[in-house]
Amino acid sequence: MSRKEQTPAQISTFTMMMIFIVLAISFAAIILAIQAYSVYENQFAAAYLTFIGILGIALSLYTIMQVRRRLARLKIETPPVITTIECKKCGFKSVREFQRGDYVFKEVEPCRKCNENMIITAIYREFKEKRKETTSF
Ligand SMILES: [Zn+2]
Repeated sequence: MSRKEQTPAQISTFTMMMIFIVLAISFAAIILAIQAYSVYENQFAAAYLTFIGILGIALSLYTIMQVRRRLARLKIETPPVITTIECKKCGFKSVREFQRGDYVFKEVEPCRKCNENMIITAIYREFKEKRKETTSF
């Protein structure tokens, strides 16, 4: 069996297979439970098989949820911090990425239009709406 679990951004085929097998066994157990109950009238076997089926389905669902949560955590990226620079004289505005040492009202490079020193007017984090909900995997 290939060991590809090291790549954290995707669900390993091994995990997928395990979930699939457990789910298949669980469904089979529930079908057998129904049969045991209705055809053979064996209530003990029916209860036992139902228990196995529910346990298996719960386990697979739990694993799926854990994997999904891990993937969701990986998808969170820190949005860039933006610095807005303005010229007080002519109103020229420029936006660039935050640089170490930036603070609001700090005087920075001269204006491209009037050569007056520009000042930082805002520093903020840019949030981009990134909704990439993948319901299937
Ligand atoms: Zn200017």
